[in-house]
Amino acid sequence: METNFSQEQLKDQDNKSSEKIFRKCVHCGFCNATCPTYQLLGDELDGPRGRIYLIKDMLENNKPANEKIVKHIDRCLSCYSCMTTCPSGVNYMHLIDHGRNHIEKTYKRPFNDRLIRGFLSIALSKSINFKIISILTQLVKPFRFFFPKKLREMISLMPGKFPKKTLSKMKVYRSQKKKKPVARVALLTGCVQKVISPQINEATIRLLNRHDIEVVVPKGIDCCGSLNHHLGKSDLANQSFKKNISIWYDEYLKNGLDAIISNTSGCGTTLKDYGFLFRSNENFKKKAKKISELTKDISEYLDENIKLNFIQSKGNTKKYRIAYHSACSMQHGQKIHDVPINLIKKTGNHVFNIPDGHLCCGSAGTYNLLQSDIAKKLLENKISNIGKTNPQFIATGNIGCITQIANGTKIPILHTVEIIDWYTGGPKPEVLKKL
Ligand code: SF4
Ligand code: SF4
Repeated sequence: METNFSQEQLKDQDNKSSEKIFRKCVHCGFCNATCPTYQLLGDELDGPRGRIYLIKDMLENNKPANEKIVKHIDRCLSCYSCMTTCPSGVNYMHLIDHGRNHIEKTYKRPFNDRLIRGFLSIALSKSINFKIISILTQLVKPFRFFFPKKLREMISLMPGKFPKKTLSKMKVYRSQKKKKPVARVALLTGCVQKVISPQINEATIRLLNRHDIEVVVPKGIDCCGSLNHHLGKSDLANQSFKKNISIWYDEYLKNGLDAIISNTSGCGTTLKDYGFLFRSNENFKKKAKKISELTKDISEYLDENIKLNFIQSKGNTKKYRIAYHSACSMQHGQKIHDVPINLIKKTGNHVFNIPDGHLCCGSAGTYNLLQSDIAKKLLENKISNIGKTNPQFIATGNIGCITQIANGTKIPILHTVEIIDWYTGGPKPEVLKKL
């Protein structure tokens, strides 16, 4: 694709990077074929190629965003299915991030929109905020009909109860065995995940400890920053990025870290991009690169580093039919697909790929809250495709997908790590107790 940035514009690092990406695009449109929003809406501007043109036009011509551009960019799920399909290696993720930051800087959204996005930014980016706001929203739930549609839907979705944690909060989790740990890793516990599904982190810690790996959860790490990053709120996102990078790098230097483990693939994708995000920042460049290099999805880490010790115990001798839902951030964002499937297969169960598995379930961070009509349609399609595999339960590696899919089906859904933990000596996951 030909570009027309001036030399002055190219002094800006973000323009410079995006220009290189635009040049790779050959307008072939293959990406449209696998784009969920293009498939549903059939508008060129609701596909990756059209969005690339919109972003290029804004950036090249120093054009502020307008209502039409914002509508089409907002409808993008950031699922990155287009990146998997693109034969030219166009990094759409970096373009859409740049486009969203430009929108945030140049476009004043309508009041309700600002209110909702502000609410999400505050409510979901810190676990303590999420907990307090969830409790408070229970008080306004009976009056939700007085609120705008989107806010009403959000209030309905906020949980009133939280599952009990079974592991006490500690900075370092050590193996019970007396021998020296074989590795030391940091775990990103996720801001919403640790409140609504603490069992995922508990299964991760138990599993790692059982295989002689020390797990550290440094104080001060909360949100990975991706929530604000995808809302285009770059200043808030940067605050989280910098704080996390400093804390983890400090831990790496002082006590040593062999990896940073993510069990929420949405967050893992962002952590792996810290190096790019700080590529021009002299103070953070080296540290951010190291954090990205250390980051591993839990399935990746287990596969590469641990000889899993599978144990037959009560309840895990039965063979189950498991549908594996590959989260977009996992398969398209991190290019991890077969690894978790093969890990689950080692438990002796039957694992099935879901038809049209490359398409998003509609979760996509805050997408199911901001674009609920499209998200509902995608969820319906996903549930229908899951049904075709006739599973007894569903496995996936991302809390957003777990929450979204659970809204559409009664089939139990759990994280891959909960299955592996169970088959290596951990307890049977609560959601499977009736199976
Ligand atoms: S990220 Fe997903 S929704 Fe957005 S353009 Fe690419 S394929 Fe379409
Ligand atoms: S598939 Fe790649 S090269 Fe082709 S239009 Fe889409 S982004 Fe451009």
